[in-house]
Amino acid sequence: MLDNIAHGITEKLKDSVGGVFHCTVEIKVNFSDLAQAYDPERKQYFSSKLLASLGKSEGEERIVGIADVDLYVPKLNFVFGEADIASGTVIISLYRLRQEYYGLAPDEALFLERATKEIVHELGHTFGLKHCFNNKCVMHFSNSLADTDLKEVYFCSKCRPKIIP
Ligand SMILES: [Zn+2]
Ligand SMILES: [Zn+2]
Repeated sequence: MLDNIAHGITEKLKDSVGGVFHCTVEIKVNFSDLAQAYDPERKQYFSSKLLASLGKSEGEERIVGIADVDLYVPKLNFVFGEADIASGTVIISLYRLRQEYYGLAPDEALFLERATKEIVHELGHTFGLKHCFNNKCVMHFSNSLADTDLKEVYFCSKCRPKIIP
């Protein structure tokens, strides 16, 4: 994770993501510097730069960076997450996943579910999956949180065999 994110959140995400992939997930803390990716004009953090700074060690299959700041890539207002397929690293932002961001009452269960979907989605890309037309599939593209909330944390029957044999 890239920031001082409450331990309870990462513990729960570890379990939910591990549950989808049936694999072991380990938590590493604060291994990247956020400041290097900050754009003072946009007041956002350059996603691709942070993604590139996530070093993968030997024996690690995939790396997920979790940032609690707003991420962007050039030409887009913001991104929920980004994947680097070649290196097997992904990054997601928690920033726009909370109900509070939209002036609504906090809903931790919903927040964690959204974060899980973003992580599983980006990891799906590292397994070579493209966006799926099935709007219930986790690989469906999220234009907005409404799309994210509509889809499930799981891969559909077409996508699933491509990653979990
Ligand atoms: Zn995607
Ligand atoms: Zn699918």
